[in-house]
Amino acid sequence: MTRNVVVIGYGMAGARVAEEIRRRDADGSRVTLTVLGSEPYPAYNRVLLSGVVAGTMSTDSVWLHDSEWAKENDVDLRLGTTVDRIDRAARRIELADGSIVDYDALVLATGAAPWMPPVEGLTTETGEVAPGVVAFRSLGDCERILDAAKVGAPVAVLGGGLLGLEAARGLAGRGNLVTVVHPVGHLMERQLDAEGGRVLAETLRGLGIEFRLGATAARYLPGDGLKLDDGSYVQADLVVVSAGVRADTALAREAGLAVDRGVLVDDSLRTSDGRVFAIGDCAQHPGTVSGLVQPAWEQAAVVADLVTGENTAARYRGTPVVTRLKARGVDLAAFGDTETAGAEVLSVSDSTRGRYAKLLVREEKVAGAIVLGLPDAAANLTQLYDRGARLPEDKLALLLGRALPGPDAAGTPSVNPANLPASAVVCRCNSVTKGRLVEQWRAGATDLPALAAATRATTGCGGCADAVRGIAGWLAETS
Ligand SMILES: Cc1cc2nc3c(=O)[nH]c(=O)nc-3n(C[C@H](O)[C@H](O)[C@H](O)COP(=O)(O)OP(=O)(O)OC[C@H]3O[C@@H](n4cnc5c(N)ncnc54)[C@H](O)[C@@H]3O)c2cc1C
Repeated sequence: MTRNVVVIGYGMAGARVAEEIRRRDADGSRVTLTVLGSEPYPAYNRVLLSGVVAGTMSTDSVWLHDSEWAKENDVDLRLGTTVDRIDRAARRIELADGSIVDYDALVLATGAAPWMPPVEGLTTETGEVAPGVVAFRSLGDCERILDAAKVGAPVAVLGGGLLGLEAARGLAGRGNLVTVVHPVGHLMERQLDAEGGRVLAETLRGLGIEFRLGATAARYLPGDGLKLDDGSYVQADLVVVSAGVRADTALAREAGLAVDRGVLVDDSLRTSDGRVFAIGDCAQHPGTVSGLVQPAWEQAAVVADLVTGENTAARYRGTPVVTRLKARGVDLAAFGDTETAGAEVLSVSDSTRGRYAKLLVREEKVAGAIVLGLPDAAANLTQLYDRGARLPEDKLALLLGRALPGPDAAGTPSVNPANLPASAVVCRCNSVTKGRLVEQWRAGATDLPALAAATRATTGCGGCADAVRGIAGWLAETS
């Protein structure tokens, strides 16, 4: 007998869980699959929207599925369809158009929505975003930003976190005069310490971005700009709001599911109702920092195992995430602990060259790191962190990207593909290891597109493309 599985939300998590279900149940003999998404177009890679704003990527390159995907995979996909209510007792959901869909298992993948800070003028009296103001979350937002940001026009970005800075860098690269307004004294305070934030701001200033740090917007004056709480003004034809997101939990809350910051889930991604799962940005798992794609995709695989019965023991145990800033001319990675108490701490700062690295060591292993402007050090430290490997004697050399942590390394940097162990994670978004790439290369996937198709490596943020190309090149030379 087939089970009715319904997925609410056709974003990065919803699209992936549907794919994973069909990977396990290709002929639909176990699962009848319905996917409902509010947005009017096929699922797209939200991570790449920064590249669209920057002009390094076209909107054509962000699609996760083409228009034939649903038909080819026997999925009842309904676009532009919003779910209004979940009736858990009757095991059915109500759509905005009044229709009803029954389920045996329900997957919530409703994502998150941008948070609008309570600044006078940003929203209208009816609660709509005011003209001249755009959030930065969806493809629609991206199109609105590009329509409004005429070349040379002044733009204010509210929020100096990861996405705000990606938007700022993209718009500055397009020739806009960008000012970032951030209420904290340094940038990206969730990931960086004060010195890292200072060096990053200096690097970005060199790329033409201005900052008002430790300042709060008090009022938006349409056509004029922002008045700040210190009485000063930031001139802006457009205000891009990137002040954080809030998990979209309204449906779950109204249905009586347990909700905190997100919909609470256990290791099987079940909510407080065993028939209802939640994944991605709307879910709150104890071991996860939400808001990133890698956890969402790992969770999707676990839910697919469970609802198809492929592996009823599958569990999600959390994801050690690495945050990377995707901004041309800036190489920044941050991961692990930021709490220095009880840790050995090493740092180097060379702000005139935009370089800063800080390493937190516990029990001779990487506990956390911030690495700016030192890509080799970032690659080495990330590998050591992933593997939980013991650090070499000369940790300072490691911070400068000169250390040799590869297992068989003797004089060559560990970013050399030969020195990576098979277990090294090359594509974080899709958890693809070097071993899997080698296996698929030997099976005939000998270039980047073929490796991407076989393993999905490079199809998330795309930051691993050079590493995957490097592995393909190394295999071609040595085989
Ligand atoms: C510009 C940008 C850059 C990013 N960069 C990175 C990065 O470099 N690395 C990284 O890991 N992450 C990044 N992220 C975050 C990443 O995109 C999210 O973690 C990911 O999209 C989460 O997937 P999701 O499916 O949970 O949510 P979403 O992708 O937001 O999808 C949720 C979907 O559910 C739909 N929905 C909501 N409610 C309903 C309803 N009631 N009925 C029907 N449909 C509904 C929404 O319309 C939406 O389409 C970035 C995000 C943005 C905006």
